[in-house]
Amino acid sequence: MDIIFLNPVFKEMIWGGNRLRTEYGYDIPGDDTGECWAVSAHPKGDCTVRGGEFDGMSLSTLWKERRDLFGGVEGDVFPLLVKIIDAKDDLSIQVHPDDAYAAEHENGALGKTECWYILDCDEDAQIVIGHNAKDKEELQEMIAQERWNELIRVLPIKKGDFFQINPGTVHAIKKGTLILETQQSSDVTYRLYDYGRLQNGKPRELHIQKSIDVIRCPYQESLEGRKTQKLTCGELTTLVSCPFYTVYRLSVNGREELTQTEPFTIMSVIEGSGSIDGTPVKKGDHFILPAGFGTYEAEGDMTVILSHL
Ligand code: ZN
Repeated sequence: MDIIFLNPVFKEMIWGGNRLRTEYGYDIPGDDTGECWAVSAHPKGDCTVRGGEFDGMSLSTLWKERRDLFGGVEGDVFPLLVKIIDAKDDLSIQVHPDDAYAAEHENGALGKTECWYILDCDEDAQIVIGHNAKDKEELQEMIAQERWNELIRVLPIKKGDFFQINPGTVHAIKKGTLILETQQSSDVTYRLYDYGRLQNGKPRELHIQKSIDVIRCPYQESLEGRKTQKLTCGELTTLVSCPFYTVYRLSVNGREELTQTEPFTIMSVIEGSGSIDGTPVKKGDHFILPAGFGTYEAEGDMTVILSHL
């Protein structure tokens, strides 16, 4: 059974940079490329298969026509989306709805639960997760009075940190950060504050009322304990397990026998290189191990982020 390699889709953003080229070797469209949609069947960025039997086919078509490769999982849309984000500048302060709110207010779209693995960041880098308003009333008041510094909760970050962002959580990636994001396949974002920036001479649209609707008050920190399992030549760390996905970090230094028993498993090599059952893989490669892949050998010196439903 073949590994399904994918060609990423790139997005230029006002806050993007060029590290997707300088550090990952991708052929990016410009020096303000903010996002690499690495594993996506979303209509705004549908990856194509690279090589093998399905070369050139979009992931959305593969999902429709060959559901057997994905263990027969039900659903109209491929449910996950994996991105690498290069934030040269601050992203807007934003929040996502849950499935119920998105279904009602966004033409049946999925809500968005997402999680972040910090691939790299500046020494003094920070991130916004959560807020300090005790209830909706205080939240509305702080937003109306633009008391952003008081409202948002800012944390220092370092390489290897991991954060789960549930719907209703105020969040923002800040400058000097490279992130691998695993999320529900959704593009519904409510922008709360954009630092007064202009894009083509105009401020980007804000969604204040929808943000207030969906922000959970008070903020409750999601405390995810990591669980690390020692392997013969490395380790497997469970970063998060939630109703939408489970995400792991796999480190291999040598030869390791592993098993793919899920409907499918997404893999992104984030450091080093090696092989999967003899097929070479390297930093920047994203691929899917299909249903029934079974036992396989991962060999080399590499770190991989894995995810499955
Ligand atoms: Zn987000």
